[in-house]
Amino acid sequence: MKILGYRDADYDSFVKRLNRRALPTHDVRDLVSEIIAAVARQGDKALVAYAKRFDNVLLKEKQLFLTPDELAAVKVAPSTRKAIAASLKNITAFAKKGLRKDWSMRNTEGAIVGERFQPFDRVGVYVPGGKAPLVSTALMTAGFARAAGVPEILAATPCGPDGTVNPELLYALKAAGVTEILKIGGAQAIAAMALGTKTVRPVDRIFGPGNRFVVEAKRQLFGAVSIDLLPGPSEILIISDKTGNPDYIAADLLAQAEHGGDSVIGFITDSKALIGKVVKAIERQLETLSRARYIREVLKQATFMMQVRSMAEAVAISNDFAAEHVSFICAEEKKWLPQIRTAGAIYLGNDSPVAVGDFLAGPSHTLPTGGSGRSFSGLRADQFQRRTSIVKLDKRSVRKSLGVVEEFARIEGLDAHGRSTAIRCE
Ligand code: NAD
Repeated sequence: MKILGYRDADYDSFVKRLNRRALPTHDVRDLVSEIIAAVARQGDKALVAYAKRFDNVLLKEKQLFLTPDELAAVKVAPSTRKAIAASLKNITAFAKKGLRKDWSMRNTEGAIVGERFQPFDRVGVYVPGGKAPLVSTALMTAGFARAAGVPEILAATPCGPDGTVNPELLYALKAAGVTEILKIGGAQAIAAMALGTKTVRPVDRIFGPGNRFVVEAKRQLFGAVSIDLLPGPSEILIISDKTGNPDYIAADLLAQAEHGGDSVIGFITDSKALIGKVVKAIERQLETLSRARYIREVLKQATFMMQVRSMAEAVAISNDFAAEHVSFICAEEKKWLPQIRTAGAIYLGNDSPVAVGDFLAGPSHTLPTGGSGRSFSGLRADQFQRRTSIVKLDKRSVRKSLGVVEEFARIEGLDAHGRSTAIRCE
C-alpha cells in the first residue's frame, strides 16, 4: 500500500501520475493484434487454439457454443433464482427509463425533422469468466439489451478446463434474454464476434467488460463493429472527510480489491487520523475473507491512500483520475458533488456500498476504467438503439428551403444539389 501525505517529497509527482490516459502497453497491444489477425485468418481453428493456450481447455470446432440441451439442463438454487429476478427487475426498470423515444418537429422552413430509435438486430455481450463467474455482469449487459428489444443477443464467456460454464452464470444469461452462448473468452472472443467465423455470425455492436486483453481487442476492432466503452479492470476511489466510517471504507476498498489482477484502489481524505483507522480496519477484515490472496496482491501493488490539503484538492485529483467508481462521503456533499465530473458512477454517503450497485441497484455496473471516464460514460440502454434521422418535406417547405440550398450549392460548386431541389419547385 502506498500511503502518503501532501507534505511528502514525492506527493506532487505521485498526484501527477494519477492523471492517466487509457492506453495499452506495447506487449498487450501486440499480442492482441496477433490474436485478431489469427481469428480473421483461421476462424474457429484459432478460437480452439487460444482456448487451449489461455484457458487450458480442449474444445472441438463444433463445440464452441452451448447446446440448447445443455442450457435446458441448467439448475440453480431457488435463492439464486430469486436474487437474479430481483436484480433483473431493477435493471429492466432502470434501463427502460434510459431508452430514447422517437420524436419529430417542424423546422423553420416547415419540413418535418425527427429521430427514430430502433434496437440493433444482433449484439454481442462479453461476460468475464477468468477469475470469477460474473453472474451480475450477464444481467448488467444482456439485461439492458433485452430491455431495449434487441432480438439476437450473443454472449461470449470463457469455459473452464472441463469445457463447462458456471451454471448460475448460464441461468443468468438465459434469464437476461441471451439467445446464443459462445464458450470462448479473451481477445479471441471479441474478434470472433466482430469479424465472424464459420460458426460465429458477426454482431453489429459489442458490449461488456473484461481484462486488459478484452478491452484492447475492443479498442482495436472499433470500426469493424461499434463498441460501447472501455470497461476494464475494476477500480474505486473513495473520497472522504472526517465523517467517513473507517470500517465501511475498508470494506468497500477490500470489495474492489477482491477483483484482483489489474484492479486499482484509492482512498483520499483530508483527515490523517482516518487513514490510520482505515488501514487498521483493512488488516482486521482481510483475515476473514476467502479471496485474501488476490486482495493482498492488489493492496501491495495497486493501492494508494493520500492525505490531501482540502476537499477541493480531492475533487480535482478525482477528476484527473476518472475512476470507475467514486465513493463520496462528505458533510458538504451538496457543495462538492456537482464538481465531481469524470466518475463512471458515484456512490454517496456512508451507507451506499458499491456492491449494491454491482449486483442490484439498477444502473449498469459496466463502467469506464483506466481514466477513460473522461471520454466515456457507463453502459446505458440507449446504446442498444440505432438512431436514424428522418426528414420529410412538402411542396411548401421545399419551396421555402430552395434559396438557402441554392446558395450552398453555389458555394460548394455542387450544382446538381441545387437542381435536385429546384426541380421540385418548377
Ligand atoms: P476475462 O473473461 O475478462 O478474461 C479471461 C480471458 O482472458 C481468458 O478466457 C483468456 O482467454 C484471456 N487471457 C488470460 N490470460 C491471457 C494472456 N496472458 N494473454 C492473452 N489472453 C489471456 O476475465 P478476468 O481475467 O477475470 O477479468 C475480468 C475483468 O473485468 C476484471 O478485471 C474485472 O475487474 C473487470 N470488470 C470490469 C467491469 C467494469 O465495468 N469496468 C465490470 C465487471 C468486471
